[in-house]
Amino acid sequence: MALPRKTSKLTAVATAVSLAMAPMSALAQQAKGPPVIRDTEAEQLLREYTRPILRSAGLEKQNIQIVIINESVFNAFVADGRRIFVNYGAMMQSETPNQIIGVMAHETGHLAGGHLSKMREQMAQAQTQMIIAMLLGAGAMVAGSRGGNSNGGLANAGAAVVAGPQEMIRRTLISYVRQQEENADRAGVKFLNATGQSAKGMYETFKRFTNDSLFAARGADPYVQSHPMPAERVAALEEMARSSPYWDKKDDPALQLRHDMVRAKISAFMERQDTVYRRYPLSNDGLPARYARAITTYLHGDLRSALAQIDGLIHVQPNNPYFYELRGQALLEGAKPAEAIAPLQKAVSLSNNAPLIEMLLGQALVATDNKAYTEEAIAILRAAVARESEAPLGYAQLAMAYGRKGDFAQADLASAQAAFLRGDNKTARELASRAKTRFAVGTPGWVKADDIVAAKPLPGQNSN
Ligand SMILES: [Zn+2]
Repeated sequence: MALPRKTSKLTAVATAVSLAMAPMSALAQQAKGPPVIRDTEAEQLLREYTRPILRSAGLEKQNIQIVIINESVFNAFVADGRRIFVNYGAMMQSETPNQIIGVMAHETGHLAGGHLSKMREQMAQAQTQMIIAMLLGAGAMVAGSRGGNSNGGLANAGAAVVAGPQEMIRRTLISYVRQQEENADRAGVKFLNATGQSAKGMYETFKRFTNDSLFAARGADPYVQSHPMPAERVAALEEMARSSPYWDKKDDPALQLRHDMVRAKISAFMERQDTVYRRYPLSNDGLPARYARAITTYLHGDLRSALAQIDGLIHVQPNNPYFYELRGQALLEGAKPAEAIAPLQKAVSLSNNAPLIEMLLGQALVATDNKAYTEEAIAILRAAVARESEAPLGYAQLAMAYGRKGDFAQADLASAQAAFLRGDNKTARELASRAKTRFAVGTPGWVKADDIVAAKPLPGQNSN
């Protein structure tokens, strides 16, 4: 009798809490689609943006990762104390490096303040309070019905006690979130000042999301949900930011260009072709516009024209590894893997052996179907997965290379690792079990396969 009501109240509170913790639910939703975008150029730029801030926050040794989420809306959040998540939409909507750096400074403020674990404590406490309140309420109801007075008196008092604490707890949590946001702003500005950077970009970004702005009125924006942005908060931020000697400091033009290149690349890969041409019309002969058009040309199948455009880019910046990477990728996907090898080798060496580019090179070597490349492919892919252990592509290509060599134990193991990283635990377990039968018991390969058979799903992954 009272039980169903209690259950529904619990659900209601859980919903209120998950609204306040929108970053978490945003992450959970990501488990469905291709969740993250992997790109050396964009990741490298974001790492460079964030490194000085993490150092000034005393977090440089924590190996904090920056993860780019495949979402076009503006959002950035921390979810586990060791990663900062940024939607690609946040990069697209940040016109200057300083704007996105400001967002990263704010998120670093959350990390440095240990806000996540404090929030969990607060929620646990709130839940305990709520359960106690409900038990008291239920007790009152029972007392009311025992007295044969189920339509009033104590029974109603019981219901009031049940309804009351929910709102109280919700308000407590929301005010707690606000407090954390203000603290993260303050810490973020401190980190920016300490690294000689302006907080103007942070202010500009947050001002866009002020609660009474048009942006916030649209309601569904996840950043507004997770970042309550009352006007007072933005005013306080503006005052702090303006008092800095670096308020008017401009971004380094070379850094602005790299920022614009990454935005052009994201647009070209993620947006419709007509949108890309609207942003980067033929009349615009700047390097970012040419980059965007070269990418969209290759993506839409005109390999010859794309290669000519990429060669034009290489002519302007002959040491830019990402132009060679693009050339190699275009050739590889244009079914010319043998021709992709040289530009990808160049991209690997110019990028100081970026593992994701090594994986692309390994893929090209495998795709040639030339057995003479098998050992080279295995060597480069092994080197890549050793440093970049969360990208399924490396393991998938390694599996093919081993298969070509006739090493089916290693091929099964690598396939199992690729499946595991994709979140397909069922396939991962099956392949790992088969790999175990192919390795001698206790060998390193057998142990790795055994780990996968016994593994729990990665956090955020489905256990299918
Ligand atoms: Zn925040």
